[in-house]
Amino acid sequence: MKFYSLKNHNIQASFKEAVIAGIAPDKGLYFPESITPLPADFFEKIDELSNQEIAFRAIHQFVSDDIPNKDLKEIIANTLDFDFPVIDIEENVAVLELFHGPTMAFKDVGARFMANCLGYFSQGEKQDVTVLVATSGDTGGAVANGFLGVDGVKVVILYPSGKVSEIQEKQLTTLGQNIEAMEVDGVFDDCQRMVKTAFLDKEITDYKQLTSANSINVARWLPQLFYFLFAYKQAKSKGKEIVFSVPSGNFGNICAGMVAQKLGMPVHHFVASTNANDVVPKFMANGVYEPMPSVATISNAMDVGDPSNFVRIQQLYQNNLDTLRNNLSSYSFTDETTKAVMKKVYSDTGYILDPHGAVGYLGLKEHQKSHPNTFGIVLETAHPVKFLDVVEETLAVKPEIPPQIIKVMDKEKKSHKISGYEELKSYLMDS
Ligand SMILES: *Cc1c(COP(=O)(O)O)cnc(C)c1O
Repeated sequence: MKFYSLKNHNIQASFKEAVIAGIAPDKGLYFPESITPLPADFFEKIDELSNQEIAFRAIHQFVSDDIPNKDLKEIIANTLDFDFPVIDIEENVAVLELFHGPTMAFKDVGARFMANCLGYFSQGEKQDVTVLVATSGDTGGAVANGFLGVDGVKVVILYPSGKVSEIQEKQLTTLGQNIEAMEVDGVFDDCQRMVKTAFLDKEITDYKQLTSANSINVARWLPQLFYFLFAYKQAKSKGKEIVFSVPSGNFGNICAGMVAQKLGMPVHHFVASTNANDVVPKFMANGVYEPMPSVATISNAMDVGDPSNFVRIQQLYQNNLDTLRNNLSSYSFTDETTKAVMKKVYSDTGYILDPHGAVGYLGLKEHQKSHPNTFGIVLETAHPVKFLDVVEETLAVKPEIPPQIIKVMDKEKKSHKISGYEELKSYLMDS
């Protein structure tokens, strides 16, 4: 299987090359040259398959011969050792809980899969790969955890000092080994800018193999399609048309769901739910794609003003707006509406939604106004304790802190404080 650059289809790479480079040389995103549907009986008998078998059969064509089957199965087993339950909360509404992994963020699966692939590819290579990543909170913890102890891979995480929650900071800064945390005197955009500058800095890239661990990387993006298949397996027996509502920021997760659809999953509609960062809902309404500076919200993992994976979604539907509209609806919600629905769902059902899941729930409800007979599945992308301040303040409850979180809270924070790009550069050049 080849992947081509969405900016120039003549620029091609193998899975291995695409994973190691992250992005094409012309800065285009890599996209699979073909998506071959799985046989119909895969979906008919999906409930007889284990999650690991489902994942192997779904991802195999993309990885092709770059990783032998035996090793790919091992990578999948390392990635998927926790549950992905679909929980009914109301008639025709369920949540798919994606927060049972080690850092309680849905990014655990993509981060672990990518880390294992990169670890596999770096075996026998002389040069280490350095993963450079900026985080506003959740990505960093999942990436740090996924890459911990992977031979041949170093991870450098930049985060804005004082701007991430205490839990998130602990998850980034207490692991040690091959994980280095850079505490940046600035905001998330400063961290992001430094990472981008480093990728373009020839003095660094001539000397070090750098890659990124965000959903631009195909090994972080594609495994997210597993979630949709696991949910389909559980909800199929409802006998209704299934609709997924996905709280979206960079649109990697929902785009992976659409790849599952191309693999033949019998789901015909997706809802992309956003906070006030509404570039995509506006595009769906008027056909004009207008990136904007991001605005801060209570669902901050989705504060994205120019979603990087939206070009992949457009490619999946041949850049045809009418086709896209048949498969996708998109709605935006304010923080006030989000908090109000967190309260309502908690008092009606006892279920605690985190602010991201709450945005997803709102989008589903909007869609079901005109499609009442569908079975809706909301992707709950983070455990409520990851956004403890908002949850406690909005619901006046104290959710129980799960053991994987308690474990890191007593550990000692270790970070390098930096205030500018030159300090990052000298760290990379010296290490
Ligand atoms: C990253 C993230 C999202 C957004 O996912 P995208 O793939 O970027 O659309 C939503 N919720 C949470 C909790 C996240 O961490």
